[in-house]
This record gives sequence, C-alpha cells and structure tokens, in this order.
Amino acid sequence: MTSENGQQNDIDRAGFLLTLRQRGITDQTVLRAMEQVSRADFVASGSLAKAQADQALPIDCGQTISQPYVVAYMTERLEVKPHHRVLEIGTGSGYQAAVLSELAREVVSIERFRTLADQAREKLKTGAYDNVEVIHGDGMAGCPDRAPFDRIIVTAAAEEAPAALVEQLADGGIMIMPRGPHNGPQHIVKLTKRQTPDGVVLDEERLIAVRFVPLLPGRSREL
Ligand code: SAH
Repeated sequence: MTSENGQQNDIDRAGFLLTLRQRGITDQTVLRAMEQVSRADFVASGSLAKAQADQALPIDCGQTISQPYVVAYMTERLEVKPHHRVLEIGTGSGYQAAVLSELAREVVSIERFRTLADQAREKLKTGAYDNVEVIHGDGMAGCPDRAPFDRIIVTAAAEEAPAALVEQLADGGIMIMPRGPHNGPQHIVKLTKRQTPDGVVLDEERLIAVRFVPLLPGRSREL
C-alpha cells in the first residue's frame, strides 16, 4: 500500500468513528472494538472502496454485511462484559463476530450457508480472532451443546424470537434481534430473560427501525 493510500485509509477510519459517535454510540469499549476491527478485511473485494462507509454492502450468497452504525448499535445494546459467552446467529462476513470477539470471552457464531461460514472462519483465523467459533448450521436451533449463553445476537430478521434461542439464553441474559416481517417494518428489539416465581418472563424493549435479510429455517441446500 502506498503512503498516500495509507493516509487516505487513516482519514476514512477517523471519519468512520466520528460517524458512529455523531449517531449516538457512546460506549467506549464498543467504539474501541469498532476501531480495532478493520471492516475492509470482511467486505467483498469489489466493495473495498466503500469499506469505511456507513452502509450495508453485498457479500456472497445474496447476503449483506450490516451497516457499521447498526453493528455498533446492536453491540452497545447487547451490554457485553469480558466474561460473557455470546451466541451470534447469522455469521455472514464474520465482521460482527470479530467486533464481539474484542468484547467477550467467547463467541459462537452460526451461519446457514457453508460458503459464508467457511470464508468467515478463514478470515477470523487470519485476523487471530481466536475466541470465535464459526459453525455451519441452522441458527434457529441455536447451539444446545454450548448453552446457556449470557448474550445472544441475531443478525437476520424474524417475526418472533426462535424458542430454542430463548431457551438457551441464561437467566438475566439479553438477546438483541431485528424483529418484523421480511418485507415490512422491522425494529431492533432487546429481550431480557427473567426468572419469576411464575416462570420465565421475556421483557421486550423496542428500539430503532432497521432492514435486515430474513432469518430462514434450516441449513442452506445451496453452497
Ligand atoms: N452478522 C453478519 C451479517 C449477516 S446477514 C455480518 O457481520 O456480516 C444475515 C446472515 O444470516 C446471512 O449470512 C444469512 O445467511 C444468515 N442466516 C439467515 N438465517 C439463518 C439461520 N437460520 N441460521 C444461520 N444463519 C442464518
């Protein structure tokens, strides 16, 4: 890389963080994680010039890498602590998993497309994000062998929180997900699991409006 390109990259990265701050991300640990993970390492090669732009970008298999602001926002609302074990549904590019790996003890991330799971696993290995495990599987079933999880983040939209995921969330745990119909209004929701004398209660807080690709059942039959 020429120094001119390097300089441009520094300017882009500074703008990237400034945008997150201006849009209301205040948690310093989240901002630091967003600063540490290079989004350019996770976007498709054809989108490199836009890696620092605050927009979603296409990746393989007709999926998308989320907008940086939305990644930062969901991460902030997830309230990840260093001792937490986090489950992510929808690995996609691996970018969100990399950001989480900076904040959590352990991240398990499930992707239904084998191609995306393999690519993300490779990128995370290259970047030495050693506390992330990528699994090719159906995220709607979660990962019962590794449950319970302190935090769960779903990065594809569904009308309801999948029952298996609610089951695998620890007591007092937080789940963040985009909720709503495939082609209709979707919102990020924060679900907090609470044990009461009458059983488990899921408190729900509705947050910002978003647009996500759908959470689909089963592993993809395509690659
Ligand atoms: N978190 C990703 C963005 C993912 S886009 C990133 O940082 O790049 C949503 C992803 O969810 C897609 O890759 C899609 O294939 C995946 N997905 C949808 N339904 C799924 C399911 N049931 N199990 C696992 N992954 C799923």
